[in-house]
Amino acid sequence: MVKTDIAIIGAGTAGMSAAIYAKRAGKDVIMFEGYMPGGQIVVTPEVDNYPALGKVSGYDFAMGLYNQATELGTEMISANVEKVTRKDGGFLIEYDGGEVEAKAVIIATGAKNRKLDVDGEEKLTGFGISYCATCDGAFFKGRTVAVVGGGNTAFEDAEVLASLCSKVYLVHRREGFRAEPEKVAKVRGMKNVEFILNAKVVALKGDGKLEGVILEDTKTGERKELALDGVFVAVGQTPSTDAFAGLVERDKAGYIVAGEDCIAANGIFVAGDCRTKKVRQLVTAAADGSVAALAASEYCSRD
Ligand code: NAP
Repeated sequence: MVKTDIAIIGAGTAGMSAAIYAKRAGKDVIMFEGYMPGGQIVVTPEVDNYPALGKVSGYDFAMGLYNQATELGTEMISANVEKVTRKDGGFLIEYDGGEVEAKAVIIATGAKNRKLDVDGEEKLTGFGISYCATCDGAFFKGRTVAVVGGGNTAFEDAEVLASLCSKVYLVHRREGFRAEPEKVAKVRGMKNVEFILNAKVVALKGDGKLEGVILEDTKTGERKELALDGVFVAVGQTPSTDAFAGLVERDKAGYIVAGEDCIAANGIFVAGDCRTKKVRQLVTAAADGSVAALAASEYCSRD
């Protein structure tokens, strides 16, 4: 049986920051990542709000974290963690490929894209529906697309797509935006971007390939059809915490309940976007990683 001091589940900004701090505290660390290290930030075109870094691509930011964590000796396991249970005062982590025993666990699984939840969404994903403008935008060069959402992601997506597509609609269900005003102003100034506000997507049109959407005015209920080649969904995230349902307390939306001390339960720590908190930013994910790692390190050193 492989044993370690701290098992970190999730290798996004929070998880990798935790690994750096735990290694520097002298602990053995195994970090699990299901797909590839980096988390959501890997597909962010540009990070420009991380103090002192200036402008850097999301990919370079993630690779910087990854290199620092692995150079310090973090062991990476590329696998999905299926179950975590308490065992002999520590934890048993079962993943698709084996088992690890750890004295403490840091959950840093982040969040995944929320769906529009309309008929045909699953069927048309990859055939006109996308959740990542940076990944898929190039497939829509010179075409007409819509971005759905009013947060930072939607505005970043609209900016990326405006440089590739002939026309970009930004569809949002109300008039106010969650996105930073600076991002909104930038996109508002783009000639090929048109805002459609107080509107929600109620149906997707197309058989085998997206052809358009039906929009409903949230104030009048009036419906209209909009012909589109692509729809980029940017309506927020839901936390990836189902694997820990019986182990920690979760709120109604699935976020793991913990305060700024990042303590979720005895020996279990939570860092980053999957924790209950108000501000979900790179800098707060990194901060959580350091807090969780130092608390977990102290926990492991107890008699
Ligand atoms: P978000 O801030 O939660 O925004 C989600 C948007 O989608 C909101 O405008 C919301 O509308 C809308 N929405 C939610 N459910 C919907 C539905 N079923 N149908 C239609 N619209 C729906 O999500 P995000 O933009 O992905 O950002 C997530 C977090 O990451 C945020 O904290 C954000 O600041 C951060 N982030 C930061 C950066 C950066 O700093 N560079 C970049 C990307 C993301 P309502 O406003 O009406 O609820």
